[in-house]
Amino acid sequence: MKFAIPEEVLAVANVLEENGYEAYIVGGCVRDLVLGLMPKDWDITTPAHPEAIQALFPETFYENAYGTVGVVTGSGDPRTTVIEVTPYREEGEYLNARHPSEVRFGVSLEKDLERRDFTMNTLAYRPKTDTLVDTHGGQADIAARLIRSVGDPNARFREDALRMMRAVRFMAQLSFVIEQGTAEAIFQNADTLSHISRERIRDELIKIIETDEPMTAVHTLQKLGLLKHIAPDLERGIGVAQNQAHSFDVYEHLLRTMQHAADRDWSTAVRVAGLFHDISKPETRRWSDEKRDWTFHGHEVVGARVTRRILEDLRFPKDMADKVVALVRWHMFFSDPDQVTMSAVRRMIANVGREHISDLLNLRICDRIGTGRPKEQPFRLRRYMAMVEQALRDPVTLGMLAMDGAGVMQITGERPGPRIGHMLHALLEEVLEDPTKNTREKLEARVLELRRHTDAELASLGRSGKERLEREEAEAVRSIEKRWGVQDKGH
Ligand code: ATP
Ligand code: MG
Repeated sequence: MKFAIPEEVLAVANVLEENGYEAYIVGGCVRDLVLGLMPKDWDITTPAHPEAIQALFPETFYENAYGTVGVVTGSGDPRTTVIEVTPYREEGEYLNARHPSEVRFGVSLEKDLERRDFTMNTLAYRPKTDTLVDTHGGQADIAARLIRSVGDPNARFREDALRMMRAVRFMAQLSFVIEQGTAEAIFQNADTLSHISRERIRDELIKIIETDEPMTAVHTLQKLGLLKHIAPDLERGIGVAQNQAHSFDVYEHLLRTMQHAADRDWSTAVRVAGLFHDISKPETRRWSDEKRDWTFHGHEVVGARVTRRILEDLRFPKDMADKVVALVRWHMFFSDPDQVTMSAVRRMIANVGREHISDLLNLRICDRIGTGRPKEQPFRLRRYMAMVEQALRDPVTLGMLAMDGAGVMQITGERPGPRIGHMLHALLEEVLEDPTKNTREKLEARVLELRRHTDAELASLGRSGKERLEREEAEAVRSIEKRWGVQDKGH
């Protein structure tokens, strides 16, 4: 046998063959086998109709509306727990650049291979006879590392516009080149990407960002005219010069920051935050005669809002969006270990959230490298990190105070109500300044003083933490928007 194929996959193919249906392993997994990579999912194609396939296996389910049957193998390896078995498919005319008007099953393997996107994805391998079917020159293109449409590229992208993003994704995933005619067709049909759902675009974008080469890939999206249908705000940074600490324009800096996160194999959130962290530099840029340089005051505040809008538009899951927005909002934290105070470090942790702190530090490292002129001072950042570690042992949220609401009520004899929350927030504010105050004893003494305040006084004392931050932030945004005549018009 030519390839190393897991037993579970061979077993499914065998059952089909024993029942008179030829079984071909097909598509991306054969491409990966030829490349010597381990496929992460397996597809089999066969002349049997979906009901006939289901009848042959104890546990199956329908994967999608196109006749794909998921065969459950019981394997512990996530790559082979479900093997997808799809009848030979032939597709009718495509509608709206996204789906076929009709699908016919069981016609022939050749017809099935014709409907596939790129030649490298048309290979089919039949284990029973050890034969590799290659009707579109897939092996030659894989050897030449070329991504080439099957048939007329214009027609194929008009059928399904998402294929244009798949081409760029494969380029970055496999280090392939998009063949000239295929690339030209993408350029010509780029605007049809607007017919594709934001969810499908998001899935491809995330896959692109998770490759080892996201910078090349995103730049290719831009050159081919696709980026403006994905995240048009990124293009505003093209040609926008930065201050003297930077070698690149805003756009290139964003790409390089993301790329460094990929080079370090850091999380998707850090990569996405790298891509968007300076997204609002163009609209906050102002020349300073005094500094004889550009300034970008408040760009992280406006940028967090713009990033939120972009990620919501792309239907990013809420927890991922929350994390990225927090990273963008707080990426400007002051980190000079010779000047920063512990209470400033604690406040920074309270702002971004403990769970995001290591990603924020990683983002800072990427941001520096992304300038192209990093001040090489890793030991200073390490000293700052040591301060962060120290501060992480101190309280930064209400939950870490040595006293909770019940405690406050018990000591003060007050009933549940807004005063209790105000007192807790006032305590937190003081403990952030000085963590040694976070003992039961000291808080009890302090809360007995606090209870003497009127409701209004207490409310203003307690208007710390979250509430105050939110207000200050909203004001900052308003004043920046007023100054620059920009308004976030929503979407
Ligand atoms: P990966 O699994 O890494 O995403 P893949 O090539 O296996 O890459 P899948 O989405 O798993 O991609 O699809 C399996 C096969 O189905 C592809 O190799 C291709 O032959 C075909 N295919 C998938 N999506 C499309 C599409 N939009 N248009 C045409 N053919 C497609
Ligand atoms: Mg696959």
